[in-house]
Amino acid sequence: MSILNSIDVAAKYIREGKLVAFPTETVYGLGANALDPMAVAKIFELKERPSFDPLIVHIASIHQLQDLVLNTDERVHKLTEKFWPGPLTMVLPKSNIVPDIVTSGLPTVGIRMPSNEIALDLIRISDCPIAAPSANKFGRISPTTAAHVRKQIPNVDYIIEGGKTTVGIESTIIKLTDKGFQILRNGIITQEELETVVPFDGETAIEKLSAPGMLKSHYSPRKKLLIADSSSLDLDKSKAGLISFSGEVENGFCKVIRVSDRKDLKDYAVNMFEAMHSFEDDNEIELIIAEPVCETGVGRAIMDRLRKAEFNWRQA
Ligand code: AMP
Ligand code: MG
Repeated sequence: MSILNSIDVAAKYIREGKLVAFPTETVYGLGANALDPMAVAKIFELKERPSFDPLIVHIASIHQLQDLVLNTDERVHKLTEKFWPGPLTMVLPKSNIVPDIVTSGLPTVGIRMPSNEIALDLIRISDCPIAAPSANKFGRISPTTAAHVRKQIPNVDYIIEGGKTTVGIESTIIKLTDKGFQILRNGIITQEELETVVPFDGETAIEKLSAPGMLKSHYSPRKKLLIADSSSLDLDKSKAGLISFSGEVENGFCKVIRVSDRKDLKDYAVNMFEAMHSFEDDNEIELIIAEPVCETGVGRAIMDRLRKAEFNWRQA
């Protein structure tokens, strides 16, 4: 089946209220017609996602944005002009057409225009905005390939094969305040880049908006993951897999996945979840060690994902 055909079939499924997993530039999404509450309910069910955790709505045109939100100001226009299509989600006051189930009852809705052509075509041909969280079970590792989706949710109605995603981590999420923008989740679009358009007004942890503490653990492999400099490790490495960024101390590990050949943080983001999946699936590996990076620029988004992946295991 050609890619165009598969998008047509997938769009038909979306219009019928079914679920479709599709590639975006960030990670694979599990999509449903955002205006159909019954279809959206199936996302929560299949993902085993708690109903307090709102979904991001994906659009393919600015017209769709106008329909979904109450109003947009000059700052929204500037941000969409510079960063859309792309991995930036904006949380804005919602209009009545957005069902409460999408926003977990909040008066605001998170919206983004992805840059992946398959995602854009799917939204256009379906002729509706598509609500889509990542296509994995709640709390588990995000999918960056169709195979990762099949591993965690094989019973989805349809999966569009679109190769490996090019950003590799979820979108940056911001909300606008009187003073500027706040970051709810760090991503590949950094605070520094956003500040060139709108002033920065601090970080609000997503945890504060949802049930306290619930989301400290996320993106979690089924095997113990620790953030550690491989040079300072005092444990048996013979059954450990190393996610290496510096490439400096790789001796003694059972396996090493080097996420960047040129020490570029964007490569770490692109390859991080795939490395976790690979070690999770590998019978020889019992422990995953991930090398930390500086928390500036894209490094903030990487450390956020690594800490959430490590959270449960730190307690153990
Ligand atoms: P994802 O898990 O990638 O689908 O991202 C969804 C995240 O976006 C949720 O966990 C929320 O924290 C955030 N989000 C979505 N909609 C809103 C909203 N209306 N207000 C605040 N955060 C939101
Ligand atoms: Mg997710």
